[in-house]
Amino acid sequence: MMKIMEYMNKYGHEELVFCSDPQVGLQAIIAIHDTTLGPALGGARMWPYQSEEEATLDVLRLSRAMTYKASAAGLNLGGGKAVIIGDPSKDKSVGLFRSLGKFIESLGGRYITTEDVGTTVSDMQQIRAETKHVTGLPIAWGASGDPSPPTAFGVYQGMKACAEEVFGSGSLKGKTVAIQGFGKVGSYLAVHLRDEGVKIIASDVNERATKRAREEFGATIVSIDDIYDVECDIFSPCALGATLNRQTIPRLHCKIVAGSANNQLEEDEDGDLLQQNRILYAPDYVINGGGIINLSLELTGYNAEAAKAQIAEIHNTIEKVISLAKSKQISTARAADSLAESRIQDAKRVRTMYSKGR
Ligand code: NAD
Repeated sequence: MMKIMEYMNKYGHEELVFCSDPQVGLQAIIAIHDTTLGPALGGARMWPYQSEEEATLDVLRLSRAMTYKASAAGLNLGGGKAVIIGDPSKDKSVGLFRSLGKFIESLGGRYITTEDVGTTVSDMQQIRAETKHVTGLPIAWGASGDPSPPTAFGVYQGMKACAEEVFGSGSLKGKTVAIQGFGKVGSYLAVHLRDEGVKIIASDVNERATKRAREEFGATIVSIDDIYDVECDIFSPCALGATLNRQTIPRLHCKIVAGSANNQLEEDEDGDLLQQNRILYAPDYVINGGGIINLSLELTGYNAEAAKAQIAEIHNTIEKVISLAKSKQISTARAADSLAESRIQDAKRVRTMYSKGR
């Protein structure tokens, strides 16, 4: 049996809320990891978890990752997450999301939700009926809409920063990029790459996705296993997590890894392995921060131009991460953690200073 308090103490979680409403079949857990920088923002994931323990561990892990993502993006937000235990294809109802909305409202703004795996913009609209602490609402409501295009734009900016470091120029013209997962972000990313004259190699489990990649983007299609072995300049993981590990990293023939997927490294040490293999890794939660930056602007009044300018800053953040990694002789993954942690530590220091009345 998992020792929840021990886990929370070890990783610094502030709060874990179990939400139950049998009338609408709601079983959900909200985790607030760290609110030092601001209220905890993170999506509500709906997934048919096999056990409460599995759901608890997932929400604790995911909420902590959101703290790092928000901090690295320079946002005044903390990290949080919600998980709903259920099958999104059959267990959804208006009542379920309104009930979750009431629980979110009871947290008084310490947690702000948005879409995630298994939830959609229309689910967020139901939540909005009960609380204003929700983002990812429709563009027609003056909100930010689908986060995939801004996420892809941020990945593209991060890729260019890596190219500057490795090839001496941010131009990607004539380069080859292997995209693993040609879904929403992968295909929006391909638009930027195609426009710059990049050769695209793609793999996806879904035939419709590979057909689109071939027909609209002139991509060379390879199998989901062969994508690790292709000759390319940049490998771009845009599918699932944990695809960079001891087995796959030695197979890569690229100079840069830069993609949108969350939790790309199976183990922390895989960041070191990439460094040892002379592959520049753009840390996942830094390069894929375009979505959260876009959402965060809903909280202050959404403006697409302002959002785009702020997302373009991912270029500079990646440069900062690379420079820190070089100066400390550590991997870029560890440098990103150190940057994200230092913003939080600084904010904590300021707070303690004033609370001591100095
Ligand atoms: P998506 O579901 O639209 O796309 C994922 C694609 O990967 C799908 O086409 C799927 O068929 C494919 N896929 C699944 N398993 C695969 C495999 N083994 N090999 C190759 N392809 C495979 O999702 P998305 O919104 O494009 O997100 C992609 C990744 O980026 C996810 O890891 C997501 O968590 C992350 N991310 C997305 C956003 C966003 O704004 N959408 C923001 C931050 C991070």
